[in-house]
Amino acid sequence: MTRKDARVKMSKAKRANPRARKATRTKAVKRQPMSDRVKKMRLEARRELRFKAQKKALKEQAKLAAEAAENERLRVEGLLDNTVFAEFISKNVGKKAISVIKLLNSPQTDEKIAADLDVKINEIRRILNVLDSYGVARYDTNKDSKGWLTFKWYLDGEKLTELHQNAVTAKPESLYKMPENCNDFFYCGKCYDEAKVILPFDAAYESQFKCDGCGKSLKQLSKEEARALFEEASGSGKEITAAPA
Ligand SMILES: [Zn+2]
Repeated sequence: MTRKDARVKMSKAKRANPRARKATRTKAVKRQPMSDRVKKMRLEARRELRFKAQKKALKEQAKLAAEAAENERLRVEGLLDNTVFAEFISKNVGKKAISVIKLLNSPQTDEKIAADLDVKINEIRRILNVLDSYGVARYDTNKDSKGWLTFKWYLDGEKLTELHQNAVTAKPESLYKMPENCNDFFYCGKCYDEAKVILPFDAAYESQFKCDGCGKSLKQLSKEEARALFEEASGSGKEITAAPA
């Protein structure tokens, strides 16, 4: 109810009951002037109320911010749950990039991320720089208590969404092309059904013929076998990916 409404209502009530109107007036006239002590008490009570209201508002604000952050965290996890996108990230940014992105839900220093994930700081810095080049990670600079500049990294959720969109709508052929000059391909017998990853020889050699996902030894495929798997996956509407040769 607005103030104006209240006033209208009150005057209506008064109009309807002139005796009540008179009674209030008499009461007002009879009221004794407030002592300084009472005035002070009232002032303090009012201040207390205002303080309580402010505290409540701040608490409410913090609660809403926490809720928004949690929703954003879940949204980002949802994006990363997509197999195609997860593959895209781990191939183009790094194996640990998904874990890094998840930690960037709140601003973090590279040292903290390295410690949390137990990964060398140089690898974390490399991942952050690649994410930065995609616009997905950004940083703020601050001075710490000793006057050193610190970088706190955080996620640009909108950019991540764009990147996700581009990665999942890309045609399978653009994610994976059978290299013409390669005759030996490799895949992980354990992870293939889930991950749909085929590695050309060079990429398999670089990962020492071990699966990035589970660490098992990769199995060899001829070009024909690789092509058959690729066609089968394309036909089923599933997307196949591979590290660049
Ligand atoms: Zn595997």
